[in-house]
Amino acid sequence: MSVICPFCKSENTTSFSDIKTKEFGYQCLDCKKDFGVFTTDKQEKILSSFKMMKIHYKLDSKEYKFVLNKVDNKINLKMDSYILSVHNDFDIIDFTSLFDNFILVLLNQFFIFDIENTNIDNNSDFFIIEIESDEKIIKKTSKINYYLDLLSKFMFQLIGGENEKS
Ligand SMILES: [Zn+2]
Repeated sequence: MSVICPFCKSENTTSFSDIKTKEFGYQCLDCKKDFGVFTTDKQEKILSSFKMMKIHYKLDSKEYKFVLNKVDNKINLKMDSYILSVHNDFDIIDFTSLFDNFILVLLNQFFIFDIENTNIDNNSDFFIIEIESDEKIIKKTSKINYYLDLLSKFMFQLIGGENEKS
């Protein structure tokens, strides 16, 4: 199955790895943009310097918030949902053992670093992701697109599908 370009949705993409720069990633053969470009070093740095991540999205008028926090060497996950003005407050989960794989999936399968910022308003569906590491804060704000739709479904599984009935 070919990987879909996050920019133009083309399936005409190819993967590459560069021996010199040690970079690997994908290139879209239609819009010519690269995506999911990393080195192993860069990924390890993202994991080791991690402090906090917030994912906040609204889809079909249901709103979800996920906050991952690093406390000492532990990663905690806090989830909240807002459905028909009902706030659901979930217990904090120890996410430490899942954390590395989780972040790598976000980087390499949902291409969160390649999200293009678009204007959003609170009345429509939106997706906001914020990652704080030792050096910087990355914030992406976007309307729901192909990968963000998939990512919101992926995140929803963490809640256990509990609020599926509306
Ligand atoms: Zn493309």
